[in-house]
Parts: sequence; C-alpha cells; structure tokens
Amino acid sequence: MNLSSDVTLIGGGIIGMLTARELNQAGASVTLIEKNLTGQESSWAGGGILLPLYPWRQAEAVNCLVAASLKRYPALCDDLLEATGINPEWTPCGLLMTQIHDFDLAYNWCSDFGIALQTPPKTICSGLETDWLNPLWLPEIGHVRNPRLLKALKQDLVNRGVHLLENCVISGIHSQNSRIERVSTDLGDFGITELIISAGAWTTELMATLLPDATQHRPAIFPAKGQMLVFDAEPNTLNAMVMTESQYLIPRRDGKILAGSTVELAGFDKTPDPEIREQLFNFATKLLPALQHYPVSRHWAGLRPGTKHGIPYIGRHPDFTNLSINAGHFRYGLVMAPASACLMTDLILQRPPIVAPEPYQLTAQH
Ligand SMILES: Cc1cc2nc3c(=O)[nH]c(=O)nc-3n(C[C@H](O)[C@H](O)[C@H](O)COP(=O)(O)OP(=O)(O)OC[C@H]3O[C@@H](n4cnc5c(N)ncnc54)[C@H](O)[C@@H]3O)c2cc1C
Repeated sequence: MNLSSDVTLIGGGIIGMLTARELNQAGASVTLIEKNLTGQESSWAGGGILLPLYPWRQAEAVNCLVAASLKRYPALCDDLLEATGINPEWTPCGLLMTQIHDFDLAYNWCSDFGIALQTPPKTICSGLETDWLNPLWLPEIGHVRNPRLLKALKQDLVNRGVHLLENCVISGIHSQNSRIERVSTDLGDFGITELIISAGAWTTELMATLLPDATQHRPAIFPAKGQMLVFDAEPNTLNAMVMTESQYLIPRRDGKILAGSTVELAGFDKTPDPEIREQLFNFATKLLPALQHYPVSRHWAGLRPGTKHGIPYIGRHPDFTNLSINAGHFRYGLVMAPASACLMTDLILQRPPIVAPEPYQLTAQH
C-alpha cells in the first residue's frame, strides 16, 4: 500500500471524514488514520440537529460556520445518497422552542441570518405538555440522521480512493526543523506532506503524547460527555423537533424519537448512567406523554470535543509548517462540519476562505 499522500488526517469522525472528502474533491490524495472504526464516536452519538441550541446565545464564530454549513447540507446529503445509495435523511421538519426568555434577541438573530421564524401553529404544539413562554417555531430547520450520514460518507470516501486506515495505532509523530516528517503506526511508517489532526475530544491528549515538545500552542479541548436515548415510537407520533430549556426531542423518519441530552465533565468515561436514563425518560414522557406507550430501545453516551466558548480550532499550527488542527467543535460539530471542512481545505490549498479564518486560529480565544 502506498501510504504517502498529499494530506494525511488523524481522526475519522464527521470532521476528519468531511475534510478528507473536501480535499479529495479538490484533487488532493488523502490518507485518513483512525484508531478504531470511522464514525463511531461523538459524531455517531449526536442528535444531528442542524442548528445550535438558541443560536443567538452562541459566539458569532460558531454561527458563521453554521450559516455556511446550512447552505451546503441539502446538496451534500443528495450527493451522498446518489453516490452510495445510503440516505443521510436530511429532514427539514422544523424546530419548536417552547420557552424563550430573550425573544428580541431571537427575533433579531433570525432576521440577520435569514432564518424563517413564526408563531407556532396549533398542529405542531398538540400532544405536548409544557409551560409555554413566547414559543418560537423555526419551520425550515432540520436534522440529519448522523449514523447514516457517517456510513454514507465512509462509503463515498472508499469509492473516491481515499486511503482509510482503520484500527490503526499511531506510536509516533516525528518532526525536524518545524516540519512533521513522518508518522509511525502499527501498519508502518510513512512520510508526511501535510498533516491534519481531527481527533475530536482526544486531540489535546494526542498532541501531549505524540508531540510532547509542542507545548506552546496546544489546543485546549476537553471531553464533554453527552447521553441520549431513543424511543421506538411509530411514525407521526411527533412531526417536528422540540426544545425545552437545554433538552430536546428529535423525530426520525421511521418514527424513532431521540431524547437528549446532558453535558457532563467526566473525563473519557463513556458509560451510560441509569440515573441519567431516568432523567431523560422523565423529561421526554412529561413533554410528550404519548411516549409512555413506546419502549426505549437504546441509551448511549458520546464524548464531545469541548472548548471553553464552543469555538473550534481550524487552522495551521504556528510552530510547524505542515501541521493543522480541525477539532474542538463541542456541541455543534455536526452542523458546523461542512463549513469547517471547507475552511480547512481553503487554508491548506490557499484558496479564498469560506469564512474569515481568524477566530479559529490556535492563537485566538476558544
Ligand atoms: C449526545 C450528543 C448530542 C449531540 N448533538 C448534536 C447535534 O444535535 N448537532 C450538532 O451539530 N452536534 C451535536 N453533537 C456534537 C457533535 O457530535 C460533535 O461536535 C462532533 O461529532 C465532533 O466531531 P469530530 O469528528 O471532531 O469528533 P469524533 O466524532 O469524536 O471523531 C474523532 C475521531 O478521532 C479518532 N481518534 C482519536 N484519537 C485518535 C488517534 N490517536 N489516532 C487515530 N484516531 C483517533 C476517534 O476514534 C474518533 O473516531 C452532539 C454530541 C453528543 C455527544
């Protein structure tokens, strides 16, 4: 196997895989190294809502990537379906927010970003039990079925000839004169032209272990555990996403309804917790009492790549000429992924950037 590519990526979540695809589309040869199987970590565990929770309360740098990604999602999902036969189920079913304390901010944000906003129609609210406060209905907001998106993406990368090295353990990253020369793995050593680290919650730990001398500009990314569960409901039990405070329900096309989520600082422990299962169950069945009739078929946890302000690191490492980072997307990596992949590719290939790159540099506040 020829392991020398124009670009090598470490980490095969949504960020690594979409970046690999974007680079491949631009004509680069790409190798992606994943320590387990691609698309099984945070990107699998997430809900797939294509909007941050209350986006008007998020950093502008997050919303810039969100806005650019929203424009790309429908075509991305269509292309992946056509290329692989796997449907990522981009579903613009609308998002209902039941309690809004900062209505003016919400209204202004939606008009600035061109997001349709309405008073919720009665049909959307029926069957829900909650304390309504200035409810908002965003009829054009959607979700994606992220496990299927990842499956389609993996198949597409294979079809395109991207070298996917799964179950591949990296034992060393070797540099000389501010340049990454070589990566050693249990599948062999190979030379590096450009290296991108997209290892999600593991990025900081990976750099501390494998690039111990690069102490100065190490991204500050921490694991933030999130738990969810899924009810095996029937289609049309719920026809839109519903958000109350920081919890939400997401209806998939086949009737399954996801309830999420938590944000817990518990290190790299991914064990689902029975108490949280009960909390999520109570939240979901209180909000949508019809859910009491359906079984919970799965409860899981994922590790988000947390950053202090939720702003990802996307850019070149200031201390190496051929090292870049694309990681730290915290709670909104699925929605920010298409624009993040494009920005990373713009920077590597010196194309005009899709959004202003400064807020995502390693030296900026995250
Ligand atoms: C419960 C929950 C709900 C969420 N809901 C949403 C949502 O509704 N909308 C939204 O936009 N986002 C959501 N998110 C956030 C989103 O899932 C993440 O921001 C996103 O998946 C991060 O993608 P990633 O590729 O950086 O990380 P990951 O998907 O975690 O991928 C990182 C990859 O790097 C690999 N790796 C690590 N170390 C190494 C190494 N040494 N060598 C090789 N490979 C390595 C890992 O095995 C992994 O496959 C949610 C997350 C959770 C947990």
